[in-house]
Amino acid sequence: SVIREILKVTARPEVISFAGGLPSDASFPVAQLKKAFEKVLAETPQAALQYSTTDGYAPLREWVAAEKSKSGATIKPEQVIIVSGSQQALDLIGKVFINEGDKVLVEAPTYLGALQAFDLFFPKYVSLPSDEDGLDAEQITAEHAQCAKFLYALPNFQNPTGRLMTEARRQALVAKARELNLLVIEDDPYGELWYTSAPPPSLLSRMPERVIQMGSFSKILAPGLRLGYIVAPEEIARKFEQVKQATDLHTATLTQRAVYEVVKDGFLNEHIPTIRSMYHTQAQAMLSALDEHMPTGVKWNQPAGGMFLWLELPEGMDSEEMLKKALARNVAYVPGTPFYANEPVRNTLRLAFVTVPEEKIRAGVKVLGEVFDG
Ligand code: PMP
Repeated sequence: SVIREILKVTARPEVISFAGGLPSDASFPVAQLKKAFEKVLAETPQAALQYSTTDGYAPLREWVAAEKSKSGATIKPEQVIIVSGSQQALDLIGKVFINEGDKVLVEAPTYLGALQAFDLFFPKYVSLPSDEDGLDAEQITAEHAQCAKFLYALPNFQNPTGRLMTEARRQALVAKARELNLLVIEDDPYGELWYTSAPPPSLLSRMPERVIQMGSFSKILAPGLRLGYIVAPEEIARKFEQVKQATDLHTATLTQRAVYEVVKDGFLNEHIPTIRSMYHTQAQAMLSALDEHMPTGVKWNQPAGGMFLWLELPEGMDSEEMLKKALARNVAYVPGTPFYANEPVRNTLRLAFVTVPEEKIRAGVKVLGEVFDG
């Protein structure tokens, strides 16, 4: 409901919004997509407009499998299910794994959209501690893991915090998952959006037998395509296929074929670096504005990629209360509270910075600085 209230306000053009989770529309490769849709409709119109298989367009599944195999583990096309946005993967995960009262392990904080998807199946969440270096697996106990259906983790430039899980933390998580027999969901829509150096290898590449990875074309092409994928151990992939069939039969045939046309000859190798550099510039503008305008006692991280950063107000301050004052002065953000499955940390908030022009970033952060200064 907080989010709905914010969205009402951010629809007004005078509002500077750091609240949205949208990628920059300046990054959408319109010409390439237009060409690809035209080509598919010209060359294979019947197949592109017909019903198709639930697991997805075979060449696209092969492409995903080949991409994922580059970082070590061999991933077979049979392990890949194409989904209608990775948000659908979260729904399918809920349908396959969660019965009412089942235990699910999540980071604190975690992606709000995952909580919304899982909530429909009434799990019992256990929140795991995380900090600047990402999820702290050392603190996962046998009691946490007992009967847990899975652990949901976001190692790369997490939504909401922008945090990157370090190499040491990844190793610790792999060791812990093996020791406690945990299934891990690795949600990775932002991994390609690093600014100066690539993240450490994925959890999937380290333990493909117990990782379900979700990926998306939303942040590297465009979210309106509604195209993503799940990579899972084969027997789990078949369960997703079954449940997806009941959900929507299959993901849009035309879109899958067009996106395959766009990615098949390496277009992303030239396209993604342009997004990285655009977002890096935006992040630098946000960081320098924060340096200039935030009062002492306010802390924030230095994201190494992605679209978000996480701000911590002085102890005792409530970011939801502060939001009312910020909105009254036409600046929006998302308070930290909805990103916590259990006990919220009330003095935190998320700032999204990739869609706001630089001069508005400066103006908006100046207002926030004054609001947080009381
Ligand atoms: N996971 C995370 C962490 C996200 O931030 C998002 C988009 N905001 C999604 C999944 C869903 O993305 P999509 O359905 O567009 O692939």
